[in-house]
Amino acid sequence: MAITQRDTDTTYRCPSCAGELAVSYDSFECVDCGFTPRHGSD
Ligand SMILES: [Zn+2]
Repeated sequence: MAITQRDTDTTYRCPSCAGELAVSYDSFECVDCGFTPRHGSD
């Protein structure tokens, strides 16, 4: 049986401009304004 990976199907929204957040390695980056949310406790 083939394993179907759909974990990255979720779309994240930028809190700054409501644009899409693209997955970049370990973090995210907004495709519109380049916003990158910080990891860890906030
Ligand atoms: Zn943005």
